[in-house]
Formats: sequence, C-alpha cells, structure tokens
Amino acid sequence: MKIGLLGGTFDPVHIGHLNCANQAACRFGLDTVFFIPTAVPPHKRKGGAPIADRLAMVKSAIRSNPLFKISRLEIAPDRPSYTIDTVRRFHKKGGELYYIMGVDAFSDIYSWRSSGELFSLCNFIVVSRPGTDLRNAATRLVREFRADGIKLRLEGGQAKNAVEVVMRVVGSQFTVYLCRFTELDVSSTQIRRMGVAGESIKYLVPEAVEQYITRRGLYLK
Ligand code: ATP
Ligand code: MG
Repeated sequence: MKIGLLGGTFDPVHIGHLNCANQAACRFGLDTVFFIPTAVPPHKRKGGAPIADRLAMVKSAIRSNPLFKISRLEIAPDRPSYTIDTVRRFHKKGGELYYIMGVDAFSDIYSWRSSGELFSLCNFIVVSRPGTDLRNAATRLVREFRADGIKLRLEGGQAKNAVEVVMRVVGSQFTVYLCRFTELDVSSTQIRRMGVAGESIKYLVPEAVEQYITRRGLYLK
C-alpha cells in the first residue's frame, strides 16, 4: 500500500490542497491520501476557525473522492501536534509513506521536531507553488539542507523545464520528489482575507465548503 499524508491547518481547505493531493495520487499511484488537519500547529499563529469547523470542511471537501481519507491524529485542541509523532504512527501500521507538502513548508522542515528522523520513515512529495523555479529550488535545497545532518543528493530532473526533480536522501532508502503539478495560486490566507473583505470565494473552495463558511459565518471581519 502506498499512502500519502497531507498535513495542514486547512483554514480553510481549498482547491490547491485537493489538486495537489489528487495529482500526487495519480503520479505516484497512491492508494490513499490522508488529510491530517492540525489543531495547534507548533509554527502557526493562534486564531482562525476552530478545529471542529476545519475538520468538518475537510470532510465535506473530500467526501466524493474514495482515495481521500481524514486522519484525526492531530486534532487534540490542548497541545501542539508534531508531524514526527503522526508519521511514526503511520509507519507502525505499515505501507510505503509519502508525505506531501508545498515547497514553502519543506524549506522550513529543518526547524520541525526530530526532522532528521522523518527522513528515515517516509518519502516526500514536495509540490512547487506558483513562481517556483524547480531547478533553482532543488539546487538550493541540496546545498542548504540541514535537517539533523540529513543530506540530499540530486539524482535527476535537472533539465530546463523539468517537471520533477529527484533527490535521494543520502544513507537512506527514501527519496524527495520535487514536483511541478498544475499550480494553483491559492492559499488559505488569501481566502480568509477575501472573506474579511467581503469578496466571493466561489470556485476557490468546493461548493460544500463555501456553503459551510457562509452558514457558520467564518472569516468575517
Ligand atoms: P496558510 O495560507 O494559512 O498558510 P495554506 O494555503 O498554505 O494556508 P496549509 O493548511 O498551511 O494551507 O497547507 C497545507 C499544505 O498544503 C502545506 O504543505 C502547503 O504548502 C500546501 N499547499 C497549500 N496551498 C497549496 C497550493 N495552492 N498548491 C500546492 N500546495 C499547497
Ligand atoms: Mg501554509
């Protein structure tokens, strides 16, 4: 079994998340992608929508896709969740793990708890965000990467216009795939701002999520 893991605050979940989970599943033949909403991410500001609402929105967003599931491992409201604990839990259950994340999040991974150990448990699918030059991003990652002594080695995809760059984790069986999927220039921050400004977020989130936001009065001034 190949299992994708997509952690996030999902405040709210949007088409960028769904598209990147779907394209990762197609490209790597994943059997399941778990969306893992985090109640209290260690790095992020407090505030935003409560975890119960974020969970409900993710549930309704993924309902129609049998490949997508939700994990409740990070929803404890009273303490920060660490990705390493989540990945260890999945690792115990078996299967080949692929942690999916945007290149913005991956660039910060050295500051995550036990980041080095993560590279001994799963592969990474790192997704470009608009404006990312894949070759430059890969070169920089290989040069500057410093998660608990982890070293990356460029393996392929350095051609101009490459849509995938492969980096091996030195001394481990795992791989970091830097991928350019169809890039959607949308973020939860932008959607929250649009809500506050009274702008329409139609088509940036699934219809059911838009209705949920309206019904619950989320992201208003
Ligand atoms: P925020 O603006 O609040 O940071 P976000 O849109 O980045 O929200 P998160 O919940 O922080 O959403 O993201 C979860 C994961 O999805 C992260 O790894 C992030 O890089 C990735 N991601 C978010 N939006 C996109 C997008 N449009 N394309 C590709 N990856 C994305
Ligand atoms: Mg983010």
